Order: sequence, then structure tokens, then C-alpha cells
Amino acid sequence: MTDRDRRILFDFIEACALPDCPVCTLVAKAELRTLQVYCAEGAGDELRRADVRAARGLCVRHATQIQDARDAMAAAVTAYDVMSNLLRDLDAVIKGGSGWSRKKMTVPQSCPVCLDVARYTRAVCAGVIAWAEEADLCAALQQSHGMCAPHLRWMVVHTKPPAEFLAAQHVAWSRVHAEVGEFVRKRDDRFRHEVQAGEGDAWKRAWRIINGNTEAPD
Ligand SMILES: [Zn+2]
Ligand SMILES: [Zn+2]
Repeated sequence: MTDRDRRILFDFIEACALPDCPVCTLVAKAELRTLQVYCAEGAGDELRRADVRAARGLCVRHATQIQDARDAMAAAVTAYDVMSNLLRDLDAVIKGGSGWSRKKMTVPQSCPVCLDVARYTRAVCAGVIAWAEEADLCAALQQSHGMCAPHLRWMVVHTKPPAEFLAAQHVAWSRVHAEVGEFVRKRDDRFRHEVQAGEGDAWKRAWRIINGNTEAPD
């Protein structure tokens, strides 16, 4: 077991203390790091820029993040690059005339940040499963709101999560489920006077479990 392998155990346990799915938390951090590195290099990484050109930009999520990264230069250089290619595509369509025009339009590749995120997510999920019999990890998962359904689904389809790990996830989900139930019950006029005991935002947590807040890979 390398230090890198061991780090995922500590990172996952730490992420369990936060409100989101722990895998989503780790993936979101890596996603931000990827964009920060791209911006820090002033979009000067030729290979990376070639990927962005081939994708004719980024997906909506990552395009929004690069605009929010407060690095106008990196965002501008990237936009200039992509637009040069879009104009070339349009020229090809115009020169091609009617009939064949559509075939001249370049079909973009996938968003390169999404591809990185998918690779990273698979590595995190596999890394977590490698430690899934650890008592500390299961205890942290049990105390959390649980992993989101898309990440759990990925683990179940591609790996063999041990029983104790699934049981911890069940405890976590059951707690949120019961809290949403309480929230709904107290909306009833007969119970409206009862003080809410922390379940006020349970429905928001439930939606984060249902969808996650990062893309899960196929
Ligand atoms: Zn997740
Ligand atoms: Zn993307």
C-alpha cells in the first residue's frame, strides 16, 4: 500500500464530516484544481489547449467555472482559440455550399475537464473500495449523510463493496430519509407547533443524495 493509496482513506474520512457526498467533495476539489492549474499556466499548456480546441470549448459546467475562476487572461486566450476554430468550421460550411454543409461542420470531442474528472472519479471510487472494510472508514460513512446515489451505483456496478460498507451507507441514508419524513409530517397542521430538530434542510440533503453534485462516470 503506497502513501498515495493510504491518502484516499484519510481524505474520504475527512470528507465524510462535510455535508455533501464524500466522493463528490473529493471530485469537486480535483475539478477545481484542474481548472486552477490550467489558468495558472495561463492556458499555456499546448496539449491541454489542443484538447479544448478539439472539444470546441468546455461543457456548460466547466465553461462557467473557468469564467468564475477570475483569470480573465486564461479565459480570454481559451475563448480566442476556440472561436478561431469555430470560425474555421463556419468557413468550411459556407465554402461547402448547400447539401454537404453539415458534414463539413466538425463534431466536437468530449469536454477534456469532464474526461479528467471521470478518470479521477473512477480512481477515487476504486480507492475507497480498497479500504471499505476499515472500521474507521465505515464509522465515518455511517455518521455522514452518505454517498450520493450515482457514486454508490458506480461502485456497485464496477466493484464489490463489502457488506459492512453497504450497511454504513444504509444507516446514513436511513437517517436522512427519516428526517425528510419528519419534515413532511410537521408540515401537517396538526403537528405544525412541534419544534423542528435539525430536519429543516433534510430535503436539500436528500436531493444531494439523489443526484450528487458532480457528474458520475458511466
Ligand atoms: Zn457523489
Ligand atoms: Zn466538462
